[in-house]
Amino acid sequence: MNTHTVIIGGGISGLSAANFLSKKTSNFIIVESDKRPGGIINTSLEGGYICENGPNTILDNNPAIIELLKDLNVHEDLIYANNEKIKKRYLLVNDRLTKIPMNFFDFVTTPILSIYSKFRVFFEIFISRHKINTSVKDFISTRFGNEFHNKIIVPFLTGIYADDTSKMSAKNTLKILWKLEQKFGSIIIGLFKKEKTPPAKIFTLDGGLSKITSLLSDKFQNQILLETKVKGIKKESNSYKISFNNREDIVCKNIISTIPAYSLKEIIFDNRIKKALSKVDYNPIDVFHFGFNKKDIKNEIDGFGLLTKPEDRKSFLGILFSSNIFSHVSGKDKFLMTVLVGGKRQKELCELPPKKIEKIILDEIFKLFKINSNPELIKHFRWKNGIPSYSMMISSLEDEIKYFENKNSNFSIIGNYHLGVSVSDCINNAKNLIENKL
Ligand SMILES: Cc1cc2nc3c(=O)[nH]c(=O)nc-3n(C[C@H](O)[C@H](O)[C@H](O)COP(=O)(O)OP(=O)(O)OC[C@H]3O[C@@H](n4cnc5c(N)ncnc54)[C@H](O)[C@@H]3O)c2cc1C
Repeated sequence: MNTHTVIIGGGISGLSAANFLSKKTSNFIIVESDKRPGGIINTSLEGGYICENGPNTILDNNPAIIELLKDLNVHEDLIYANNEKIKKRYLLVNDRLTKIPMNFFDFVTTPILSIYSKFRVFFEIFISRHKINTSVKDFISTRFGNEFHNKIIVPFLTGIYADDTSKMSAKNTLKILWKLEQKFGSIIIGLFKKEKTPPAKIFTLDGGLSKITSLLSDKFQNQILLETKVKGIKKESNSYKISFNNREDIVCKNIISTIPAYSLKEIIFDNRIKKALSKVDYNPIDVFHFGFNKKDIKNEIDGFGLLTKPEDRKSFLGILFSSNIFSHVSGKDKFLMTVLVGGKRQKELCELPPKKIEKIILDEIFKLFKINSNPELIKHFRWKNGIPSYSMMISSLEDEIKYFENKNSNFSIIGNYHLGVSVSDCINNAKNLIENKL
């Protein structure tokens, strides 16, 4: 069989690539190894609760997302997160929920940082810019001090990347802060001088984020091969030959890979890129959903969620107060919490049987929120390879990918392990690829 383009992977990267490519040609197929399209986007409806096992929210921060949603005719159905709740995010100080400062007054009065640390933050304007890329830990500690790094940045970033800040690349994970430092010589000065844009909003859809990937998969129902795993790719003179677990080979001119690095390294023909891909580390994440009757929660739970730092000695990275963010995810008298466990910090927890972790976390949650009754809903989902590490070797990975793509024209590699981990990055990168390279 011959086809012009094969998109490997039916997660949001692959399905968005299909959407943008369909505006130029219909001569493509999408190949997805699972029986369910969507990859990490994975909503389940559980007895009146809408549970997100993967991403909970999407940031509306680039035009590609809106274009995609318009193409699916759902751009007017977006449910934006409660604006008031978003502003209230918590850290723990002596086991008490303490609001993360969001304005100058909160910053001056917060008990999260010592007085010394608050002064140290403003000293940032005198620190010279970095000449070369460095780790997040070094970047933030040098600019704002160790305490600010340990108490604010560590919980925030482990909530997104589940990684170790001393290994993460500042240039790739703190893109905006890095650019401000490079352009203005100081992040604080940069924040004052940069052009003001309205903050991006976060949203979901009724029925959850899987609605987007289901609509995309329906749109391409005649072009998507589910339960079809790519087993190998061979390069021929002007084309590629792809073999599968369950069907005859396909010869194609273009390949777009959107699968994780650990999958691509198994099937790709070039040893040099294989080696680079095998260095990408992934951190595990366990997701727990707990649905409570509101009357069983003594302390009213306000705000967006809670993040922890290592010294809190908790068995979770963070908790999203899902019913506060989007009220439709549970009944009015119910409260849904989504708890994230694991990452580099708690790797060993993700090897325990889920029932064991569940008990540990529930004990901690009961104490923190003064809850006196078991949840009526308990659901667990394990991502063995949840979130890719944006380590210091990311620049050499990017160079290797560019080198490979130059040598193998018509073979493009996108995905969440080198171009940005968020769903909005994945959609934007798919659009850029189709517009600029195909
Ligand atoms: C727990 C968790 C919470 C998150 N929360 C957020 C959030 O709130 N907001 C946000 O923006 N981002 C979040 N993210 C990140 C974001 O969800 C992912 O980065 C994004 O969904 C990745 O999409 P993708 O299409 O690049 O990859 P995937 O979703 O991994 O898709 C790749 C697809 O390729 C398929 N595949 C693999 N190998 C083969 C093969 N050989 N042949 C055929 N098919 C193959 C897989 O089955 C999979 O469907 C979260 C991630 C996790 C794990």
